[in-house]
Amino acid sequence: MTFSAFVDLRSDTVTRPSDAMRHAMAMAPVGDDVMGEDPTVNELEAYTADLLGMEAALFVASGTQANQIAVRVYGGPGSEILAVDESHLFFYEAGSAAGLSGVQIYPVPVQNGIFDPVDFTLRTRPDDPHFPITRLFWVENTHNRGGGRIVPLDLMHRLKTLSDASGIPVHVDGARLANAAMATGILLKQWSETCHSLSLCLSKGLGAPVGSVLAGSKEFIEGARRARKAFGGGMRQAGIIAAGALFALKHNVERLVLDHERAARIAAAVQDIPGLSTSGPTDTNIVMIDIDPETGKTGGQVQNDLEEFGIKLYAVGPQRVRVVTHLDIDDTGIEKAIAAFRTLFH
Ligand SMILES: *Cc1c(COP(=O)(O)O)cnc(C)c1O
Repeated sequence: MTFSAFVDLRSDTVTRPSDAMRHAMAMAPVGDDVMGEDPTVNELEAYTADLLGMEAALFVASGTQANQIAVRVYGGPGSEILAVDESHLFFYEAGSAAGLSGVQIYPVPVQNGIFDPVDFTLRTRPDDPHFPITRLFWVENTHNRGGGRIVPLDLMHRLKTLSDASGIPVHVDGARLANAAMATGILLKQWSETCHSLSLCLSKGLGAPVGSVLAGSKEFIEGARRARKAFGGGMRQAGIIAAGALFALKHNVERLVLDHERAARIAAAVQDIPGLSTSGPTDTNIVMIDIDPETGKTGGQVQNDLEEFGIKLYAVGPQRVRVVTHLDIDDTGIEKAIAAFRTLFH
């Protein structure tokens, strides 16, 4: 079986560029981006700054690089970032806030990705030589390990009010903020009013092969450009990949609602299968499925068993698997996945 014969629900990062996207990439005008001379990168940065309602934007290699650049710009040795628990920054980035920037992360409790803004204030350090210096409030929207949960706009406004009072800025890891925007009808610009800077992944549900963008004030992006260089992320004729990213932003945002409908269909079907349940609401394109230990199966076993049926997904906990829908999954794939779950847990 070739890999394309699988219904691949492991992540929305597995999408491959369409012929039209490849054509746009092949034809893109390019130049040396470190010298500021790549017209396609410049277009992408101007386009995303406008889309996100920010002064400036920066094209970077990955979501992880976007996060680590933000950490470097705001923090430094002996400082602390208050970040939502189970965030990608805290969970999946090889300890790089400490490793690359000497920054300590203080996790803020979440329930399926949702926090109480007061918990940020409670953890903000007083000015005392015993303590690290609190430099940043970090939020993830949608929250990945929280099951693609949307952090509601009013919650973001409440956090922004606390940020204004304390002078501590808010950064949003918006790897999937476009999913939140399409699911709620709230524009990216409205979300970005609730933070000082944010990132967006172009290589996930949007379907570009490579890249993320960071956006914020001119001053923030100047610092980010320097940090990107320091981390080895200054790319040259990057217009080739920026063209894929631009294509993704122009063609693949609105269709995210299809991914959400399909995720909801899987979530509903799972609720009717004995031994399976969803761990919380399915707001966007991620479904977290809990497996009752009474079934005798672990998450890892379900991952292996489903592969026999041509379905790929990830175990993300001892009794939990994760399904992610994306633009290379159609209705047939969804039906196949539901049928496989039913057969396995009949
Ligand atoms: C995937 C992801 C990232 C990292 O993106 P990469 O491009 O894989 O480095 C960052 N934050 C969140 C919330 C993510 O889901």
